[in-house]
Amino acid sequence: MQSYRQRFPLPPAGAAGFDYLIVGAGFAGSVMAERLASQAGQRVLVVDRRPHAGGNAWDHYNADGLLVHPYGPHIFHTNSAEVFAYLSQFTRWRPYQHRVLASVDGQLLPMPINLDTINRLYGLQLSSEEVEAFFQQRAEAVPAVRTSEDVVVSRIGRELYNKFFRGYTRKQWDLDPSELDASVTARVPVRCNRDGRYFTDTYQAMPLHGYAALFDRLLAHPNIRLMLNTDYRDIVHCVPWRHMIYTGPIDTFFDQCFGALPYRSLRFEHQTLPLPPGREHLQPCATLNYPNDYAYTRVTEFKHLTGQLHPATAVVYEYPQAQGDPYYPVPRPENTALYRRYEAEAAQLKDVTFIGRLATYKYYNMDQVVAQALSQFKQLQRPGTP
Ligand code: FAD
Ligand code: UDP
Repeated sequence: MQSYRQRFPLPPAGAAGFDYLIVGAGFAGSVMAERLASQAGQRVLVVDRRPHAGGNAWDHYNADGLLVHPYGPHIFHTNSAEVFAYLSQFTRWRPYQHRVLASVDGQLLPMPINLDTINRLYGLQLSSEEVEAFFQQRAEAVPAVRTSEDVVVSRIGRELYNKFFRGYTRKQWDLDPSELDASVTARVPVRCNRDGRYFTDTYQAMPLHGYAALFDRLLAHPNIRLMLNTDYRDIVHCVPWRHMIYTGPIDTFFDQCFGALPYRSLRFEHQTLPLPPGREHLQPCATLNYPNDYAYTRVTEFKHLTGQLHPATAVVYEYPQAQGDPYYPVPRPENTALYRRYEAEAAQLKDVTFIGRLATYKYYNMDQVVAQALSQFKQLQRPGTP
């Protein structure tokens, strides 16, 4: 096995150094830092090139005093009792169940598609059993469900696919759903009941005082040092460390030696808007999706998520784009194949561990990243592991 030091010459680790250098202070890096410091007594340096911890989940009060998510709306949901119990050590929660309406044919309709969506779209009064038959009549036979188009047309047919999925997906990814893995649109289920929640996970809640406060507590251990506004490449050769946890894009770590891995980006347009007297919100629910109109995909009004009372309201428009911060891995076979080449390189490095959404090129939600970090921590604790 190779070591990072063989690839890049480093000064020897000295007494004043750190046991762990963690690149990235998002959920992956911060959970790992907390575990290593509090459970294994390790001295940890966390480095992030941004001016704050929290990664893409970071939130703050904007100039108008409204709590917003600068990198897009982040709603916490999980089926993992372990992840929820773990995070509950660092935050109290505000129960919150996310709701989304999609603007289709001049109406705002429940998304995921459910019984109400169909009845309102077509002016019907179907029951749950009848809507299942409705979907089955329209479903197209697909020999093997491989793509994001296959998933939807094989379940509900092409007309609903065209109204709710095709345009949104083309905007979001600049790819046709037929060019994306099934896993992408499979994130959004289809329901025959009237459940209008976006998620059905057992635990659904927002950190009571926001994500930034959660991260402050995660990183508060005296064994953890946090260095912000710093690219790890600027310090990796001068700060002694024993093992690195890397949570940035994996292709960048290897100087894109096999070529750039595609990541999809977004431009966020934030606005503070006045409210009519007596109103707390402008939108009927947190998020409105626009599958077929406009250059943006969705608009989210933060007060639904945060429960904040304020005379004004804050919204964010999401405009997908190719350039910019890497936000989404792009799940499709050729990208997975390219990732596998980087993964094989990464496996050679015995003193670097790769975790998180960017470093493992996985379309992970926050809870999945926390679960991955907790499990990786346990692996690092095994005897014989560096
Ligand atoms: P990140 O949060 O990306 O953190 C990586 C960190 O590494 C960053 O802070 C970056 O600055 C730092 N870094 C990278 N390179 C370097 C370097 N060279 N030197 C120093 N630092 C570096 N998940 C949900 O569960 N619910 C949601 O509602 C939800 N909504 C989302 C909405 C959007 C628009 C996006 C993009 C994602 C959403 N997610 C959501 C997913 C969620 O953001 C991720 O699962 C989670 O934040 C990933 O954590 P991470 O630590 O792996 O990565
Ligand atoms: N999607 C869609 N129409 C919608 C909502 C989602 O076509 O109204 C598709 C789209 O391809 C999107 C994917 O389903 O990228 C996953 O949606 P999700 O809401 O989980 O996306 P995220 O919150 O991760 O951006």
